Amino acid sequence: MKFCKKCIMPDTRPHISFDKDGVCIACQNNEKKKSVDWDLRYKELEKLCDKYRRKENGVYDCIIAVSGGKDSHYQVHVMKEQMGMNPLLITVEDFFTMTEAGKHNIQNISEAFGCNIISFKPNRRAAKVISRYMFEKYGRPLWYVDRLLYTVPLYYAAALNIPLLVYGENVSYEYGGINDIETYSAREQVFNGVAPDVDLEELVEAGVPRDELTYLEAPSRVLLEKLDPIYMSYFLEWNSVRNYEFAKRRGFKDLTHEWDRTNHIENFNQIDSYGYLLNAWMKFPKYGHAYATDYGARWVRYGLLTREEAVKLAEERDHAVDPKIIEDFCNFTGMTIEEFYNALDKLYNKDLFEVNALGQWRLKQENIEERRNPHW
Ligand SMILES: [Zn+2]
Repeated sequence: MKFCKKCIMPDTRPHISFDKDGVCIACQNNEKKKSVDWDLRYKELEKLCDKYRRKENGVYDCIIAVSGGKDSHYQVHVMKEQMGMNPLLITVEDFFTMTEAGKHNIQNISEAFGCNIISFKPNRRAAKVISRYMFEKYGRPLWYVDRLLYTVPLYYAAALNIPLLVYGENVSYEYGGINDIETYSAREQVFNGVAPDVDLEELVEAGVPRDELTYLEAPSRVLLEKLDPIYMSYFLEWNSVRNYEFAKRRGFKDLTHEWDRTNHIENFNQIDSYGYLLNAWMKFPKYGHAYATDYGARWVRYGLLTREEAVKLAEERDHAVDPKIIEDFCNFTGMTIEEFYNALDKLYNKDLFEVNALGQWRLKQENIEERRNPHW
């Protein structure tokens, strides 16, 4: 493994690129942001909103895809209170046990900003089969819900004839990935690799009737061309900590006094449910990094941690998946804990990991050393 010299992101993150000095694209883009004329970008957003504002009472001007999290709070504030738009919010629920904070926040966003929310509750029977299948075969336990998170708002926007569809950050540009170019348009987001195409016949073979796989296919080009999906992170300088500070003042709750997650370094990102968190943690066995690296790297870019501090947090926490996450995933899919760990053993990347004398999967020492002192 090779690691970014500025933050701690490894080159195993899918599709991330580095410059010749060993600086990752996320750090490069973070530098670029410092020379962006954000006043001008704000005006561009106003212009775009003018184009789609319908000026009729009771008619929606845009759709915002929300989770109820801190970023959603900020997005709704910008569109409704700053841009004066009438937004309809769409959320795709997952099927896991919700935290108290998660239950509170999705209600809060409606109360704090006075918005209607369409809540899409996916088919639980299909979800159980697909989540287990995708976990065991690909190490992608939440593919089903992540896929719907991307596709459902697009299908609804088209059906309701509301072309302006607002997403938060461009994950590829902010953190590295497929299509890491700077663009306001989120039209290609569904192809960014986070929840990639899967041959639906596979899922039929796994036991889900074909007609229960609605919305899992990417929308057609014809449908996408009718819409104008945007990333808000293009128009406003995106910072998850700043969004959190904003959301808190409008009633957003974090996990303080509720759940101290063993593999996280903060308590306000992705806090809605327990089992859902397995998805991002699965980057650890596959690519050798998880939450502590992701947020540690981000905090380094934000100037909140030194690189050394982030390395230490990654060493202490990345591997330590919280037992509540596993329990909730197993409860939902019907797997036993033993079946879960047996499947997990098969998913560890043997090039990056080895089992130590205590029976623990750990990054090979050479990778740990490389993270402390990157060589390029
Ligand atoms: Zn970096």
